[in-house]
Amino acid sequence: MAKTKFDYFVIGAGSGGTRTARIAAGLGARVGIAESTYFGGTCVNVGCVPKKLMTYAAQYSREFEDAVGYGWAVGARQHNWAHLIGNKNEEISRLNGIYDRMLRGAGVSIYNGYASFTGPNALLINDEEVEADKIVIAVGGKPFLPDVPGAREHAITSDDVFFLEQMPRRVMVVGAGYIAVEFAGIFHRLGADVTLTHRRAALLNDGFDQDICEALVAQMQVDGLSLNLENSVLSITKTESGLVCDMKNGAPVEVDCVLYATGRIPNTATLGLDKAGVAMTDRGAVIVNDEWQTSQPHIYAIGDVIDRVALTPVAIAEGHLLARRLFEGAEWRDIGYETVATAVFSTPPIGTVGLTEHAARAAYPGDIDIYKANFRAMKATLAGREERTLMKLVVQRSTDLVLGCHMLGQDSPEIIQGLSVALNAGATKTVFDRTIGIHPTSAEEFVTMRTKQPEPTDN
Ligand code: FAD
Ligand code: NDP
Repeated sequence: MAKTKFDYFVIGAGSGGTRTARIAAGLGARVGIAESTYFGGTCVNVGCVPKKLMTYAAQYSREFEDAVGYGWAVGARQHNWAHLIGNKNEEISRLNGIYDRMLRGAGVSIYNGYASFTGPNALLINDEEVEADKIVIAVGGKPFLPDVPGAREHAITSDDVFFLEQMPRRVMVVGAGYIAVEFAGIFHRLGADVTLTHRRAALLNDGFDQDICEALVAQMQVDGLSLNLENSVLSITKTESGLVCDMKNGAPVEVDCVLYATGRIPNTATLGLDKAGVAMTDRGAVIVNDEWQTSQPHIYAIGDVIDRVALTPVAIAEGHLLARRLFEGAEWRDIGYETVATAVFSTPPIGTVGLTEHAARAAYPGDIDIYKANFRAMKATLAGREERTLMKLVVQRSTDLVLGCHMLGQDSPEIIQGLSVALNAGATKTVFDRTIGIHPTSAEEFVTMRTKQPEPTDN
């Protein structure tokens, strides 16, 4: 049978793959795309979108509680997990359809199946072989589960959490990255008894400012969430009453559900990259240059599979720029990975862009000023909440440039998006200072911070 030939073939119809296929087709290329599981990829099906819907569901419990201080009589409340999951599934099906129609509408040939390389220009999908001048690897990643006895049999990952039939009453979350803190908060607010256990003392990683990470620990504790830090699960055993996690500190914890949120690994194990001569890192990430070109010049890789900044808007930007570069001859443009804003939808949420204080002091020793605001947001007053908001600006003294904006508090993801524009535009602290605030908001604190923090002492 004659092989179908394409100008551009995309493996994976997730955030990055869908965008690059659609843009390339719009620019006149003959484009094919293969998707093994679900259109829209991780973000739409088992990532950002269902997670945010569940975050909204969880936030209501707090709104009901806070409403009382504002004069509302709030009656008995009950959450129906099956109803939430059913509605969420309907919404995701609607989005899957939109992705499918968007690709077809752009003239992209769709292959429902797993694609693997049979040669540098050839792929096998189900029983069909296709050939392409240029190929894009946009296969994303999958949850990593450490080799802990009982974990494979009894624990779940973020891929499963969206499809649980019942809301677990007692949950152990393992890890302290984005997914761990987000789901700890979701289950806690929905009424579960949550323990978050992590091998280190700090939550999140070095990409987040230390003050923000410490404030998150404090706020999660104020909120009543149990943090089991500097501890590890050694094994998981199923008993009649639940799952017993045998812990490194010797104090077992019994729960109904153990959620491992211990990072993600690239989806490359069975992709046949060796047959195409594409080089990978030890972790299985595809190695690319600045233009997303792999060790084979006609094969490209974008999104989570390159293990740079694993965020949906980044995968989309990479896919968009790559298609325009290849089929429109557009100039190469720096994505500016260092100034990509990000949010953690924890309780309370975090928004952050640019350098942390630690990274800034390392990059510009003796040339950094720090400004901070730590306050109880107005809404918390009548609600009777002790929750505090933390905001922080990192400024280079010699240039006055704002290098980093960090916030923990309500609405921080919405607030930081605007500040990331300012930061990317090269705003100085003087520009922040002469910007008139919007009153009364929390956001106005970002333009009213006047007092520098004292210089840290070295010991
Ligand atoms: P994906 O979206 O993972 O798409 C890859 C696609 O390739 C998948 O559909 C897969 O089925 C398919 N595929 C794999 N192998 C093959 C093959 N051989 N043949 C055919 N198809 C194949 N990011 C944010 O910016 N904000 C958030 O709030 C956020 N929340 C998240 C929450 C969770 C729980 C998770 C897991 C991730 C979250 N992310 C978030 C990260 C975001 O989902 C990813 O960065 C983004 O989806 C990466 O896009 P991608 O195109 O690289 O890969
Ligand atoms: P992260 O990389 O954010 O966190 C992984 C966590 O697991 C860390 O706390 C890490 O600890 C811990 N860990 C790693 N290996 C082990 C192990 N063997 N045993 C015990 N603990 C371990 O990964 P996530 O899975 O949370 O998320 C994956 C990526 O998806 C994120 O990095 C982010 O890019 C994206 N994402 C984005 C979201 C958003 O934008 N809001 C939401 C969810 C995901 P240690 O620090 O000690 O290594």
